[in-house]
Amino acid sequence: MNRAGGAPLFIVERMRTVPGGTETVVRLTQPALRRTSALPGIAERVLGRLPDIVRHRCESPKGLGIAGEFADTESAHLLEHVALELLVREGHPRTMAGRTTWDFGRDGHGVYRIFLGCEDVEAVRCALEEACVLIEQLTAERTRC
Ligand SMILES: [Zn+2]
Repeated sequence: MNRAGGAPLFIVERMRTVPGGTETVVRLTQPALRRTSALPGIAERVLGRLPDIVRHRCESPKGLGIAGEFADTESAHLLEHVALELLVREGHPRTMAGRTTWDFGRDGHGVYRIFLGCEDVEAVRCALEEACVLIEQLTAERTRC
């Protein structure tokens, strides 16, 4: 299920096992939606759908709570947290780490590396794809109003 039947917000480009988990390279398909501030209300909707996500800790230097962080961060960072929470719901440990990094000069514009502390590549792929669909659904709720 995609926004207006178009391409998904993120495309998984490649995945590899790295020490302690899986690194997934994703590409943002819609540059205008690079930051969650372009998706008003998305933080509240994500927290409404996945309430336990407030238990995540984030190493963001801004010192905002999760809701504040999600309101204005890279959309790929939100994708990481949603995927992580979906993995926890599948029974993976809540202590799992996650990290989103990017170097557009090295990887190309709109390309992100998402590390999740789960070595089951297929589980990570499913969680990321499901997270992408969920974010698109929660974004579409806005446009229907
Ligand atoms: Zn984070």
